[in-house]
Amino acid sequence: MNLARFPRVRLGHMPTPLEPMERLSKHLGGPKLWIKRDDCTGLSTGGNKTRKLEYLCADALAQGADIVITQGATQSNHARQTAAACARLGLACHILLEDRTGYTDPAYTRSGNVLMDKLHGATISRRPGGADMQAEMEAVAEEMRSTGRKPYVIPGGGSNPIGALGYVNAAQELVTQASDMGLRIDHLVHATGSAGTQAGLVAGLVALNSGIPVLGIGVRAPKPKQEANVLALAERTIAHLGLPPLVRPEHVVANCDYVGQGYGIPTQGMVEAVRLVAEQEGILLDPVYSGKGMAGLIDLIGKGRFGKDENVVFLHTGGQVGLFGYPDAFGLPADTAR
Ligand SMILES: *Cc1c(COP(=O)(O)O)cnc(C)c1O
Repeated sequence: MNLARFPRVRLGHMPTPLEPMERLSKHLGGPKLWIKRDDCTGLSTGGNKTRKLEYLCADALAQGADIVITQGATQSNHARQTAAACARLGLACHILLEDRTGYTDPAYTRSGNVLMDKLHGATISRRPGGADMQAEMEAVAEEMRSTGRKPYVIPGGGSNPIGALGYVNAAQELVTQASDMGLRIDHLVHATGSAGTQAGLVAGLVALNSGIPVLGIGVRAPKPKQEANVLALAERTIAHLGLPPLVRPEHVVANCDYVGQGYGIPTQGMVEAVRLVAEQEGILLDPVYSGKGMAGLIDLIGKGRFGKDENVVFLHTGGQVGLFGYPDAFGLPADTAR
């Protein structure tokens, strides 16, 4: 597997750290928990989209684009990292934000990621929940083309075979890091949404014959749909890499029991997981993805899904900025100035 064949621009601080979570492991009574800090990719507070954007933005530049269009939920981390990447590369950026939650709290509609989209100079337009966002982007792109601009459309979450190369690269990074540390990784767990992260990891880990199983904790779609999305993208990614069809359905496992009422809607488990990791490890998770991912991991640990002496790596995909969009979810007393 020779990833250097694919055009890439450097946007992130890599390799990201792989660290033990000693206090959390002890608190939960095992397994041995580790964290891969992709919240520390460095671009505008970091996150998993930065790795995908290294390949997507290289493609945009190769195609002579002058503006990038992408889409996401109001508090999209992908939109924020895309806006920052465009700023760095001197590209214009237009973001379509879908109102998936119906929240009207100005903290949600204007702070957190939205504030940062604007700081990076992106323009924003909004769409109602349930809109066909890919079609909306295509329509905006068509209009721009008619005025002589050269738009490059990045799908939601940056999840296509080009973006997924970022997580093929991450798989390679993780396997190298673990072998340098003498660490046998028994499981890799992370939050899965638009599927590019899990698809890239699965493609990369299978191509490397690593034997490391990946467990995606879903944040939106039900399990059959999520697994089908990840499998289809992993297969396309392996083909894009020029490899034979190595990915099999059993390589793709998602658990979608921790979504709660829907995408971006807080759950009790998420709130408890965010608090616990903040208090035990000094690490901030996010309310939409990594908090629900960790809630799933903690619950599955309680159910004995992992051996006490196994090494479980949680991939922290970032998104902490989203905490500022959810000031009420954590029930912090508003009247104390502590
Ligand atoms: C986008 C995102 C994910 C999910 O990654 P996908 O590649 O969309 O599945 C997980 N965590 C955070 C913080 C994200 O922003």
